[in-house]
Amino acid sequence: MGKISRIAGHIIEAKDLKDASMNSKVLIGKQNLIGEIIKLKNDTSIIQVFEDTDTLKIGDKVESLNPQITATLGPGLLGMVYDGLQRPLNRMDDFIAKGIKTNPLDTKKKWKLKKIKDGEVKKGDIIAEVKETANITHKIFAQKDGKAEIKEGEYTIDQPFGKINKEPIKMKTSWPVYTPRPVKEKLTPKQNLITGQRVIDTMFPVAKGGAAAIPGGFGCGKTVTMQMIAKYADADIVIMALVGERGNECADVLSSFPKITDIKTKKSIMERSIIIANTSNMPVSARISSIYLATAIGEYYRDMGYNVLLITDSTSRWAEAVREISGMLEEMPGDEGYPAYLASRISSFYERSGAVTTLNKTQGTLTIMGAVSPPGGDFSEPVVQATKSIVRCFWALNSDLAYRRHYPAIDWLQSYSHYVEDLKKTNDEQYEDWSQLRDQMIQILQKERELEKIVRLVGYEGLEDKDKFLLKVSELFRENFLQQSAYHKTDMYCSFKKQYSMLRCFAIYYDMGMIAIEHDKTLEDILNPKITEKISRMKTEEKEDFGILEREIEECLLDKKDAIDLDGLLQINHGE
Ligand code: ADP
Ligand code: MG
Repeated sequence: MGKISRIAGHIIEAKDLKDASMNSKVLIGKQNLIGEIIKLKNDTSIIQVFEDTDTLKIGDKVESLNPQITATLGPGLLGMVYDGLQRPLNRMDDFIAKGIKTNPLDTKKKWKLKKIKDGEVKKGDIIAEVKETANITHKIFAQKDGKAEIKEGEYTIDQPFGKINKEPIKMKTSWPVYTPRPVKEKLTPKQNLITGQRVIDTMFPVAKGGAAAIPGGFGCGKTVTMQMIAKYADADIVIMALVGERGNECADVLSSFPKITDIKTKKSIMERSIIIANTSNMPVSARISSIYLATAIGEYYRDMGYNVLLITDSTSRWAEAVREISGMLEEMPGDEGYPAYLASRISSFYERSGAVTTLNKTQGTLTIMGAVSPPGGDFSEPVVQATKSIVRCFWALNSDLAYRRHYPAIDWLQSYSHYVEDLKKTNDEQYEDWSQLRDQMIQILQKERELEKIVRLVGYEGLEDKDKFLLKVSELFRENFLQQSAYHKTDMYCSFKKQYSMLRCFAIYYDMGMIAIEHDKTLEDILNPKITEKISRMKTEEKEDFGILEREIEECLLDKKDAIDLDGLLQINHGE
C-alpha cells in the first residue's frame, strides 16, 4: 500500500505504490476516494482524484486496484443517469457521498435470457439476448473463443447463465473506457441520420456513423439544438454526455426528458437514452472520464447492431479539464495554455465514431456530435480549430443570427458537411433530385450574399428583376425553411419527406418565377402573396406532401400557353 506524499488540488502524488501502472484505478484515504494514475515518475505515481481532496492529508494510504477505469456493461443501462464514474444519479439524486460505492446496474433484477448460439463460439459472437426495453433487445457477447454451454432462464446480471470452456459466464461485463472496442471493418457511412431539423438534414446532413461539431458562443443555441436532436434523431440509442455545464441545465434535461415520448415508439424517450452528467460543480477530473465512459457505452450498443448517437455538451468543458490537469502536472503549455496533445486527444475521441461491421458480422453505427463553446464565440481558438480539422460536418452557430432570433442559428455560408457526397446516392434513390435541389438552394443563398454587397453600392432599385426575385426567394427560404422553432408543436420536428416536399416548392417557385420574368411578367405578379403565404405556411402545416402547392405555383406563374410547353421551357431555363 502506498502513501500520499503531495497534494495539489485534484492531483496527488503517492510513493511506494505497488503494481502501479498507467491509467490504473486507485482508492485513496479512509474514505476510499476514487482516482486514476496519470503519470509515473521513478517511485512516484501521479494521480488525479475524481472527488474533492480537502479531507486528504500527507501520509494517507493509496491502494492500487490495477484495472483501469472501466465501464460496467449489461442490461439495465438504458434509462440510467450517471456521473462520470458511472455512479447512478437518479437513485441518489444529485448527491453522491464521497467514496460511496454504488452499483452502476441493478443487481437484483432478473432478466429472461434467450439462447442465441452455443457450441463453438468466437469472441464477440452474440450468444444470448434479453429484452431490455419494449424496443431494444440487449445482446450478450462471448468474451472469448471456445465451447459455450448456455442454459435459458431468468438471471440477474451477476448470475452465471452458462459456461465457455467450463468457465462461468455472466451478463455483466466491463470494458476499459479509453480503449476503442475492436471491430471487423470500418465502412463508409451511407445513411442520413434524420434529426428532424431542416437546416441539418437537408442542408448539412450528418451520416449515421459520422462526426459533427456544433460550435457557437454562449446563448447561440447549442444546447437547444443538441436536445432537439436527442429527442428526434432516428437513432436506436441516444447517449448524452453533459460535461461541465451548469447544474441547472442538467436538472432541466433530467426533468424534461422522461416526459417526452419517442415519435417512433410512443414510449418515454428515456427508454432509449442514457445520460452521463458532470456538472460544473463536480470535480474537474471527472469531466474527462465522462466522455470516455459515454463512448465506451456507445460502442457497446453499436456492437449489438444498433445505430447509436452520442451527444456531448460541451467538449470545451472537457478540453478545459484536460488543460487544468496538464497545468497541475506542470507540463509545457501550448496555444492558450492547452497542452500540445490537445488536438490528438480531440481527434482520438471523434475517431471512435463510425459505421462498422462488428466482430459478430452485423452492422452498427456510432455517430458523435460535440458542442464546442469557445470563449467569446471566437472560432480561431484551439478547441474549435482542432475539432474542425477532424470532423466532416461543421454546424457553425452565428451570434448575429441568434441575436435576430433566426433559430437554429446555423450559419449557412460558414457551415459544411462533407457527408453530402456519401449520402447523395442513398438520398437520390429515395428522392431523385434531392442533391440537385439542395445544391440549387445553396447557390441561391451564396448569390444572395453577393447581391447584398451590390445593393449596398447601387441600392435595391438598381437590381434587375431576376436578382430582386432571387433575393425574395432567398429570404422566404431562410425564414421558412432554414429557421425552425424548437417550441412550435408542428414545426419542431420535420420529417425528411416533408423537408423534401418543401424544398421542391422553393425550387419550383424559383424556376417558374425566372421563366415568368423571361416572359415579361412583372415582379408584382410573381410575388403573388397568395403563393408566398402558402409557401411560408408549409412549415407549420401537419401534412408532409405539398404536391398541390407545386401545381398551384406553376399555374399561377405561367400562362396556360406556357404551361403546356413547360418541359421545353424548363430545359431552356436550366440550360443557361
Ligand atoms: P447555448 O447552449 O449555445 O449557450 P442555448 O441552447 O441554451 O444556448 O440557447 C439559448 C436560447 O436561445 C434558448 O433559451 C432559446 O430561447 C433560444 N433558442 C435556441 N435555439 C432555439 C430554437 N431552435 N428555437 C427557438 N429558440 C431557440
Ligand atoms: Mg449550452
